[in-house]
Amino acid sequence: MSHDPRHTPLAQTPTEHAYAYRRGYSYFTVAPDTHSHMRCKVCDADCFAERNVRAPRGMAESVAHHNGLLSEANLRPFDRFTCPNAEHPWHKEAQALAIERDTLHSPGLRAVVQTDLDNLLREHTKSS
Ligand SMILES: [Zn+2]
Repeated sequence: MSHDPRHTPLAQTPTEHAYAYRRGYSYFTVAPDTHSHMRCKVCDADCFAERNVRAPRGMAESVAHHNGLLSEANLRPFDRFTCPNAEHPWHKEAQALAIERDTLHSPGLRAVVQTDLDNLLREHTKSS
């Protein structure tokens, strides 16, 4: 990976995408055909699956691809799962809470954040 300061690909990353989809929460990449489905770690929705995607995976590949060092053909295919609710404002908020919960060491504080998260999800994911 290049550390040439003239290249600043991070500044060009679409932030709204990075914000809505968070790997390990609402966005997952796995080896092809290893998972029939995945559930969103935020709202428990069944994720939308795209099979055998060839796209940059992670920051290093993204930078290499952006700078022409990595062609489509050299990218390893993978299956991508994305939460169908990820673009909703409430989901972004819920995801932020889930991330916050996971950074806390205190079980008491985690329970408080979990309660907020449960309340938020209950408002928006009423099962009909
Ligand atoms: Zn979700």
